[in-house]
Amino acid sequence: MQILGSILISLIGLRLVLSLLDVIRTQRHSANQRRKSLELLDERIASIRALRKQRETQQTHWNGYRKFRVDRKVLEADNICSFYLVPHDGKPLPKYRPGQFLTFRFQLPDLNTKKSKSVVRCYSLSEAPRPGYYRVTVKRVPPPPGVDAPEGRVSNYFHDHVIEGDILDVQSPRGDFFLEPTERSPVVLIGGGVGVTPVLSMANTILETDIQRDVWFFLGVRCGREHPMREHLQQLDEQYDHFHLMVCYSCPEGCDESEKIFHHKGHVDLAVISETVKVCNYDFYICGPPPMMETLVPALKDWGVPKEKIHTEAFGPATVNRAKKSSTPQKSQADSENKPEITVQFSRSETCVTWDHNQSSLLDFALDQGIEIDSGCRAGSCGSCEVAVKQGEIEYTVEPSVEVGRGSCLACIACPKTNLVIEA
Ligand SMILES: Cc1cc2nc3c(=O)[nH]c(=O)nc-3n(C[C@H](O)[C@H](O)[C@H](O)COP(=O)(O)OP(=O)(O)OC[C@H]3O[C@@H](n4cnc5c(N)ncnc54)[C@H](O)[C@@H]3O)c2cc1C
Repeated sequence: MQILGSILISLIGLRLVLSLLDVIRTQRHSANQRRKSLELLDERIASIRALRKQRETQQTHWNGYRKFRVDRKVLEADNICSFYLVPHDGKPLPKYRPGQFLTFRFQLPDLNTKKSKSVVRCYSLSEAPRPGYYRVTVKRVPPPPGVDAPEGRVSNYFHDHVIEGDILDVQSPRGDFFLEPTERSPVVLIGGGVGVTPVLSMANTILETDIQRDVWFFLGVRCGREHPMREHLQQLDEQYDHFHLMVCYSCPEGCDESEKIFHHKGHVDLAVISETVKVCNYDFYICGPPPMMETLVPALKDWGVPKEKIHTEAFGPATVNRAKKSSTPQKSQADSENKPEITVQFSRSETCVTWDHNQSSLLDFALDQGIEIDSGCRAGSCGSCEVAVKQGEIEYTVEPSVEVGRGSCLACIACPKTNLVIEA
């Protein structure tokens, strides 16, 4: 009887273990199923995103250069002019994302040879996307103080020679420095000098939606004479409760003080931002001159703004990328001592040089050797500096935001990984 009981208990125990195993197997199976469904969902989302991006690209892009007529030229402040551009072919104008830029090509006489040469430059779109026109705002660039150098070529050409009715060659809008206007979280927009252009486009776009998204807008200029879009910004400030304007003059003049047209005397720095915004967890979009970017970006990080919430635009060679190179000279030297010797051969110029590990890009390296490579944005966004790589490998300092032909690279953001032969 006792034996029978033990057998019965063992059988029940076995049955229990088996059903437990069954439950575990079923749970594992459904966990696997769930994981697979999630993976499938991720794949679907990724392909929908890719399709949407492809569609957007088709909607916002044309290939190469398109002709635009200068419809209006408007003086915005001392040495700052806006150009309203309409498509010469009269066809519809693709939309762009606020913060993006246009790339222009001019045929200008070479300063030495006097032969005509193509010169490429980028200018941010300074208005919210409009169906009928694009607008860029250009600041005249003088020679650096105390240096016997020519004035900025294209900016001065824009001011002195481009007039209403002129036809310009323009590439489609590009760039990764943009915001999603339909998001709802508060945003901090910071523009220094003419760096106001992309953030102004962002502010205008947000304020034209029905979304009551808080926008803190900081503008830093030297004085009233250099204050672009003054009336427009004041008007936005009066019209929208969720638009908070803070204008900072670093060197106000007498009449500025009496007219009370600025809010803060000094630069746009962390003190004025933290005092005004108070919260460090918003998205920050910043575009300004090198000293502003070099101090403000690390200061915001120190204050606690997450790295991924700080978005910057570099206006050409002198801003963020170069700052990185020059701010840590000792480290760069120590680093470069441990790196292997790499040679770069410029095949067309028949020049072979040892790579300098302190260089920030092949473009700068080539220019230092007196080798010409076209360039525009210097940030991997406009594609002007694409060169063929005949041998060897490169690595990018940032990912290109334009498509690069197979076997070529963007010299402005590329460094050699191995010995290199490039067509330049
Ligand atoms: C994405 C992006 C967006 C931009 N958006 C705008 C915008 O909205 N508005 C705007 O105004 N700018 C903008 N820029 C900057 C613009 O593209 C040009 O860099 C700027 O206008 C200067 O171009 P430039 O041809 O006039 O000057 P450059 O001819 O390129 O000269 C630049 C400086 O170098 C000096 N220089 C020239 N030759 C020498 C030499 N041999 N020795 C020493 N110094 C020399 C010049 O005097 C000048 O000070 C943007 C740039 C980028 C990358």
